Amino acid sequence: MLKGSERLDIHARIRRAAQSGALSHAIIFSGPGDRVEAARCAAAAMECTAGQDAPCGRCEACRKVFANIHPDVITVHDADHKIMAVELLRAIRSDVYIRPNEGRRKVYLFDDCAQLDERCQNLLLKTVEEGPPYAAFLFCAANSAALLPTLRSRCVEWKLAPAAEEGPEEDDSRARELCSVLSGKQAAAIVEFLTGMEHSKPSREELGRVLEQSRALCAQALLEHYGRGAPPDKQEITGKLRENLTKSQLMRTIEVLQTYRQECDWNVGVGHVLGALAAELEGIL
Ligand SMILES: [Zn+2]
Repeated sequence: MLKGSERLDIHARIRRAAQSGALSHAIIFSGPGDRVEAARCAAAAMECTAGQDAPCGRCEACRKVFANIHPDVITVHDADHKIMAVELLRAIRSDVYIRPNEGRRKVYLFDDCAQLDERCQNLLLKTVEEGPPYAAFLFCAANSAALLPTLRSRCVEWKLAPAAEEGPEEDDSRARELCSVLSGKQAAAIVEFLTGMEHSKPSREELGRVLEQSRALCAQALLEHYGRGAPPDKQEITGKLRENLTKSQLMRTIEVLQTYRQECDWNVGVGHVLGALAAELEGIL
């Protein structure tokens, strides 16, 4: 989720662009902010039926786009491969000529351009340039330099500011759940929890955030072993960790969480990270 001022800012920018008819049919969302939500906002602006105030966020089209269930806003992601399968891109090249189901536009949202190597991008070039007028292409790329100049030149780039600093409103409920499961020290429960996380299909950033928050809670619990109290709102979970895990178990858990949090900065599959993490944690506890 985009937070606070950044969220307002990107929504306002997209709304202004949509109102002035300046929302390009091919956009790269780059930078450290929440690129996928920004892209979804642009897709909503393209499908919104409210007219004036697109994306209104209230009409059926907007609601479907934000819930990721709009039939004409297609998230293009290959969960089975690191690099997107060529067949998938070929399928898009013909699918683009099938008119939208219910929306005004047909929007292809590439949620992670790290999946697109040179060959993939070359396959897309012509479609992006010469596709039907109702087609739109939204690319989410941590760094737009990873995209070919030929593709970049056909797109408008929107650079997103970093997500807001951790504030008091930061939601760490997932991390607390994970720590609670860890303090139970039951291998089956840990595997079940991590499998459940995998099924909820978090982005790499989301997973990285949960691992970082969990690492921080474990570090806090370790400090408690040495007599330093945790902040009141974290005492319940850090106390549980401290009571059930030894210092050395906590230290190794912290190391493992740190390692896999860093992995999330790279182009690794979320499923791979969660599977490897489960095996490592089982070994410690
Ligand atoms: Zn709307």
